[in-house]
Amino acid sequence: MMMMTTNTPFLNQSALAVHQAIQSGETTAVSVLDATYVHIEAHEAQVGAFLSLTKDLAYDYATEVDKKVKAGEKLPLLAGVPIAVKDNISVQGAKTTCGSKILETYVAPYDATVVKQLKDRGMPIIGKTNLDEFAMGSSTENSAFQLTHNPWNLNKVPGGSSGGSAACVSAGMVSLSLGSDTGGSVRQPASLCGLVGLKPTYGLVSRFGLVAYASSLDQISPFGRSVADVAALLDVIAGHDANDMTSAQFKPETPYLNSANPEALPQRLGGKKLKVGIIAELNGEGMDASVQQAFQQSVKLFEAQGAEVVTLSIGGIREMMAAYYIIAPAEASSNLARFDGIRYGVRTKEKVENVYDLFRKNRSEGFGAEVKRRILLGTFALSSGYYDAYYGKAQAARRLLVAEFEKAWQQVDVLICPTSPTTAFDIGAKTDDPITMYLSDVATIPINLAGIPALSLPCGFDEYHLPIGLQIMAPKFAETTLLGVASLFEDAIGLKNLIPSAFKSTGVCPV
Ligand code: GLN
Repeated sequence: MMMMTTNTPFLNQSALAVHQAIQSGETTAVSVLDATYVHIEAHEAQVGAFLSLTKDLAYDYATEVDKKVKAGEKLPLLAGVPIAVKDNISVQGAKTTCGSKILETYVAPYDATVVKQLKDRGMPIIGKTNLDEFAMGSSTENSAFQLTHNPWNLNKVPGGSSGGSAACVSAGMVSLSLGSDTGGSVRQPASLCGLVGLKPTYGLVSRFGLVAYASSLDQISPFGRSVADVAALLDVIAGHDANDMTSAQFKPETPYLNSANPEALPQRLGGKKLKVGIIAELNGEGMDASVQQAFQQSVKLFEAQGAEVVTLSIGGIREMMAAYYIIAPAEASSNLARFDGIRYGVRTKEKVENVYDLFRKNRSEGFGAEVKRRILLGTFALSSGYYDAYYGKAQAARRLLVAEFEKAWQQVDVLICPTSPTTAFDIGAKTDDPITMYLSDVATIPINLAGIPALSLPCGFDEYHLPIGLQIMAPKFAETTLLGVASLFEDAIGLKNLIPSAFKSTGVCPV
């Protein structure tokens, strides 16, 4: 075992270990934070994960935590552990740009519910992370401000839209972060950056204070480098919120962290053998050979752990791309109507003729190309005469998908498939071809449409040493099963706490 001294910054450690070290007095929350910012300073120019840092806020909370430790208080779990937050989640007094020029100067006047929950736990929020504009994209290249680079290979994208939140965890800057997942925006970057990313059941985590993209699909979702860390963070952010009318009244019997343990699984399954389903439609076609290979090995690993693996069909699952690109833009076109440069955001400096001209100029200047494309698509799909043909049909397809998943749960405990058809791709490789970019999410999008929970975790590397992710899916509110199965797999494959060697901290603390 490595000797830890009070000088160890704990940057390479799990969130739970960092918390433990703070609680035990082995280190302090402030020195962990110092080390965090030194590490960011050293690497951020290469990675580009952050749109802004919130140092004052972070130090306020770290100082409070240290006072409590000094006073002999028992801290709540994860207290003192630094965390980064995607820049479409409101942090009072901090800029919340959503990666868009239209909100370049917008400062959130209130905290999102999840941010309140982090603060209540004493988790220092260290900064706001880069994203595709309004969370629309799969590579973080649609940010109006900067590129984010994949720490495993800086010429590659980190995935998206929560690319900044993924890259900062992957680069060892923080052990935890929050993103948002509407069609895969946490699971796909988790897969491309070698992390664990969990999209909870729709309604489990409050959306209050998350700038809405597609309200019936959005969920705030945690990133970490291990299943246990992600489970611990889920314990912090899950729960009913009266401020969100889609928030569920659900409480797990025991903390999620207890489920992130293979030993908890047999009881969860009532002593029965674990049954894992492979989705026939998402096995092979359009996937890199390296991804297919890693997936086949994952299947073998499940079998070696005593699971029974069967292949089954989720009819229409591949067609969900089409349904998503009606439903999500339709909701987005309505949600984004509020950004007219009057109440929020940047206003045109050009001369305007009348109020419509003002709206047009503000929105033309403020929104990027992908956001405009989605607004146009969505407005068209909702327009009179087309509503039934497009939106109505897409909703009907969504209902069929829900029924298909229900059928699957009669046969298996969890489903598995590769999270993303490819590993991280070159920066610029797909920016001219939106459809190819959209296909990055073929396996993640159906999960949001069905409202079920799913998690991505590392299952191997390709020939260029880029990480590959496995997606595990479970029935609604069965996060306990999901976490149990994920930790069984994580233990078996032994890929956890992955940080590319160039970003491993030296262990030298500045204090
Ligand atoms: N890439 C998908 C999209 O652009 C999903 C984005 C997300 O989950 N926010 O819509």
